[in-house]
Amino acid sequence: MMKRNLISFYWIILMMVGFNACKHETQKTTEMKERKIQLPEKVVKTDEEWKKVLTPEQYYILRKKGTERPGSGLYDQFFVEGKYYCAGCGNELFDSGTKFDAGCGWPSFSEPAAKHNVEEHKDLSFGMVRTEVVCSKCGGHLGHVFNDGPPPTGLRYCINSDALVFKSAVQIRNETDSANIQSNH
Ligand SMILES: [Zn+2]
Repeated sequence: MMKRNLISFYWIILMMVGFNACKHETQKTTEMKERKIQLPEKVVKTDEEWKKVLTPEQYYILRKKGTERPGSGLYDQFFVEGKYYCAGCGNELFDSGTKFDAGCGWPSFSEPAAKHNVEEHKDLSFGMVRTEVVCSKCGGHLGHVFNDGPPPTGLRYCINSDALVFKSAVQIRNETDSANIQSNH
């Protein structure tokens, strides 16, 4: 009797392990499918090619991980409604709705336009432990993210103006309208 109970017990364990493995596999496949859809296409250029398409300031920030002088950037004290795109590849990075004045001298955002549009890497340069933020499409350096931002995220994406290109909400609306008119003809 004991032996039969023990065998049944093992069967139940085996079934549970099998079921969980299946569940895990399905989750993984779904995640991979979603990731495939969401991941922006990568932009890959040589150093020489980047130099041709970027201004010296943009090249210094995006490709050489530079930092603009605090308070010197175009978008530090700039609060117009619109969106911020990567100056290297046009990837949509931040929305004006998440921008705030952190008083640090660089444009600050509480979150990216979409999580998968930026990547975060550990940065140990200059004897500090920081989290570097890069564009997920072209790998361009944007700035750093810190944990001293406002709620609800508590994050401060401290971004160089020269890594960004701004389009106002009006500009975006006009472009969408003209694209619609063209596609209707
Ligand atoms: Zn980019």
